[in-house]
Amino acid sequence: MLSKKQIAIDAVLKAVRLCQQVQTELVPADSLQKADRSPVTVADFGAQTLICKAIGDAFPKTVIVAEEDTESLKANPALLDRVVHYVNRFSGSPTPSKKICEWIHRGTGAVSENFWTLDPIDGTKGFLRREQYAIALAEIIDGDVALGILACPNLPHRLDAPESGRGCLFVAVRGEGSAMYTLTGTFIAQVHVGQETHRLAESFESTHGDSDRHAKIAHHLQMGRPPVQMDSQAKYGLLARGEVSLYLRLPNPAFPDYRECIWDHAAGTIIVEEAGGTVTDANGAPLNFCAGRRMVENRGIIATNGKRQLQTLETIRRL
Ligand code: AMP
Ligand code: MG
Repeated sequence: MLSKKQIAIDAVLKAVRLCQQVQTELVPADSLQKADRSPVTVADFGAQTLICKAIGDAFPKTVIVAEEDTESLKANPALLDRVVHYVNRFSGSPTPSKKICEWIHRGTGAVSENFWTLDPIDGTKGFLRREQYAIALAEIIDGDVALGILACPNLPHRLDAPESGRGCLFVAVRGEGSAMYTLTGTFIAQVHVGQETHRLAESFESTHGDSDRHAKIAHHLQMGRPPVQMDSQAKYGLLARGEVSLYLRLPNPAFPDYRECIWDHAAGTIIVEEAGGTVTDANGAPLNFCAGRRMVENRGIIATNGKRQLQTLETIRRL
């Protein structure tokens, strides 16, 4: 019998193949704008379908809290047709659209102390630019992230050597460390945060953080190199494998009411923590993944390569 971890990995890797296929064949009609003006594509829905089907079939009592729902899809029959087309290409058996909507709907569970959370495509803007994006799945047990799977289909195995191979899967189990695999599931290495690197990571989208403050902090910490600006939780992967030492996502003053979504951080958090790093909010408070779909008790994110850097940052913020 397959382990829970392996079932989750297989589900995410199947979704990766769908996303890669959609990204090669993407046409304008494959995406639409949601009510909050963020983009969503046929791949977001397709990935959520495959993962919610696999997790729900294997663990029928499981609650899944995922980013997408079927409302916008049902209002757009052409997009639903495209989702059905791709899901059927990757699920093996022909499935009617009603069933596919039921699988997507499995992701509308309520947050409690025990559930899974899924971002079928994290960094949809990066996906549309054909740059970085991630598929992020995490299990929360008794309020703590217990398992995190983060697939980064366009991320090189080494940032400084793009020819080293592309496509990384990060997997972390609480108490067992973090590891990196290829997208065919071949083990590459255990990953650990680095103490020699002094480099910042921040969002590619400048509105998703406070880049002016990030720059001041990086300067104060004497980080000579420019920050890595990248979409999605791939940034947590860079920190976990020692290519950056700090990931800042301080609240953008233009959006004082913005609260982070749980699926944007759960998988990344355990991957960094199990690699030896720390993840807190901008005030140094632990992230609470059980307060709702959004982390209403937290503001911003600070992820570091270890406790010493976290303390340094707390000092800077108090200055
Ligand atoms: P990233 O690629 O790291 O910038 O993360 C993408 C995620 O940023 C999206 O999935 C959104 O949920 C989230 N996002 C949207 N607006 C904001 C904002 N004002 N501040 C922080 N995150 C945001
Ligand atoms: Mg998303």
